[in-house]
Amino acid sequence: MLKGRTAVVSGSTSGIGLGIARAFAAEGCNIVMNGFGDPAEIEALRAAMSRNYGVEVIYDDADLSVADSCRALVANAEERFGAVDVLVNNAGIQFVAPVEDFPAERWDAVVALNQSAAFHTIRAALPGMKKRGYGRIINIASTHGLVASPNKAAYVSAKHAVVGLTKVVALESARTPVTCNAICPGWVLTPLVQKQIEARAASEKISIAEATQALLAEKQPTCRFTTVEQLGGVAVFLAGPAADNITGIALAVDGGWTAQ
Ligand code: NAD
Repeated sequence: MLKGRTAVVSGSTSGIGLGIARAFAAEGCNIVMNGFGDPAEIEALRAAMSRNYGVEVIYDDADLSVADSCRALVANAEERFGAVDVLVNNAGIQFVAPVEDFPAERWDAVVALNQSAAFHTIRAALPGMKKRGYGRIINIASTHGLVASPNKAAYVSAKHAVVGLTKVVALESARTPVTCNAICPGWVLTPLVQKQIEARAASEKISIAEATQALLAEKQPTCRFTTVEQLGGVAVFLAGPAADNITGIALAVDGGWTAQ
């Protein structure tokens, strides 16, 4: 069902997005990679994905904190491949500070990328999906789209908004062949979380290993990270036939975090 389709995965030069892009490539999808990083490293990732899975992989350097660039990401993919069949809104950033010290420009940056970008790409991709009779929109929210933690005002607000947006798009698309779902990961060991572990080790004067265990033990009952490969599998499931009547959900993949 996925072979020959086109998947656009925002923020797929690293972490969860890269894991999801590889999972769709393994299913035979053409891939639009997006995100920042060292150009030579990105090209190596792009070429390896294409070679390993025998699919076309292109890279688009769109800065998705800019609305026009979100629209262009979708338009360029449609122009190149004729369709955006799967849209994964994954690009995201974090900033941690108490609300009264939270720099206003960091709030704007987190909301622009983690929340507004999903609106702009969905708005651009939906008409083509409806016209062609297939569409899977997968928003990578977070456990923080369901519950809060201190010092993450912008991130928690934006992720809750993404869960809300997911429900609205699902309802508006309910009578069409398009589904829209959110995945809500708990802790996944990516550069975004590595920075939080390093900050914790420094502030609590403990080792990286101790800070890693403390981070997991505090929130995630399994005390294991979810892997990017597991999230790739969940995203592929949501794009496949078994998930045809699943729409508007916020699927927690969080080691029991939100069961507490
Ligand atoms: P990451 O830092 O490894 O990857 C983020 C990706 O977004 C990178 O490819 C980066 O280049 C890209 N990006 C950053 N700014 C961008 C911009 N302006 N335009 C386009 N791309 C941009 O982080 P990750 O942990 O893989 O996070 C991916 C998503 O998963 C984020 O939305 C994050 O909030 C969410 N998430 C992560 C965790 C976790 O534990 N790591 C948990 C829940 C949710």
